[in-house]
Amino acid sequence: MSEVIYVNTTKKTQFIDITSKVSEVVRQKGINDGLCVVYVPHTTAGITINENADPSVQEDILNILNQVVPWQADYKHLEGNSPAHIKASMIGSSVTVMVEKGSLILGTWQGIFFCEFDGPRHRKVFIKCLKG
Ligand code: ZN
Repeated sequence: MSEVIYVNTTKKTQFIDITSKVSEVVRQKGINDGLCVVYVPHTTAGITINENADPSVQEDILNILNQVVPWQADYKHLEGNSPAHIKASMIGSSVTVMVEKGSLILGTWQGIFFCEFDGPRHRKVFIKCLKG
């Protein structure tokens, strides 16, 4: 069974650190050794692993993504949120993290981020832990 965590975003584009929520799922599932897949079932949001020590890093990533994929362009998608779809594909919709001794294997400065590109919204994240 997959677990679901819920993320309420508050801005149009936003990174939210969900590392502690993912760690809690790994702990609750009693996974000592294995893999943890973190997956976003949305077309205008993503998941990435990056620095969680200095929030300026997340701000810089979002600023550059917003420059590379401008809000206004000759987009065809009638819903008007093509930039969010494009950014979601650039970032990707899942990450897989190794679990050892009951803990996610992340570098000292790494965190798992939910990436909102068309907020604010109520979002879901699926987490599937595999033993072994
Ligand atoms: Zn759309």
